[in-house]
Amino acid sequence: MRSMQTTIIDAHCHLDFTKFNRDRDEAIQRARNAGVVEMINSGIDHKTNLSTLALAEQYDFIHPALGLSPLVVSHYGDEVARNILTQLEENAHRAIAIGEAGMDYFHHKDEKEHEHQREVFRKVVDIAESTDLPLVIHGRDAEADALQMVQDLDRVIFHCYGGSLDTMQEITDAGYYISISTLVCFSEHHQSLVKNLPLDRMLIETDSPYLSPRKGRNEPAYMIDSVSTIARLRHMEETEVADITRKNTYRAFGL
Ligand SMILES: [Zn+2]
Repeated sequence: MRSMQTTIIDAHCHLDFTKFNRDRDEAIQRARNAGVVEMINSGIDHKTNLSTLALAEQYDFIHPALGLSPLVVSHYGDEVARNILTQLEENAHRAIAIGEAGMDYFHHKDEKEHEHQREVFRKVVDIAESTDLPLVIHGRDAEADALQMVQDLDRVIFHCYGGSLDTMQEITDAGYYISISTLVCFSEHHQSLVKNLPLDRMLIETDSPYLSPRKGRNEPAYMIDSVSTIARLRHMEETEVADITRKNTYRAFGL
């Protein structure tokens, strides 16, 4: 695999997921060999928050974010969500961020369920605010609503952003960050987002094991595909894209 002269951060991945059980250490090594020197790993529920913390203890270059996915909220209901909220409060001091959390109107079309997700998300926003941690948002088809709900926070990252150009503008005007996934390698919409995104607001991520730019499972090493795609779209050197997004990630997450 080609490697770069520079260092890249994958701002959002799930290396603890079972899809990596077969070759987790090798996948992490492949990332490092490709120049992806740090990764932010996100939990989505009770179990993956624990495995995220365990992974971050094992590797000092993997940073833990503790989350509560809206898909978990809608699928498992309030008691499960309440337990995870407690887990977030009790373990926030071990994490660099809260999230991913938010709403998902793509997978859930019912307005009552949207309100349910917003109710739980409000509590997650409160935890981010009281712990003074950055918040990582999963806001699929709900980007504008999520933005409305986080106006009191200083540091917000819209992970895997796929919303409109207008909402992206509002997010960056508010001083928040947009994380562009490996979808940029093959999605025209994401390419137009990248062309219009202020460079000082841009983070990049794989969301591994999802959204692979190649065949099969995604992994952090494939960040180099995004970096070269973005370099081409923005008429920049690959090293510049890597450097700028790395520094933005440090700033956004206080690393
Ligand atoms: Zn994710």
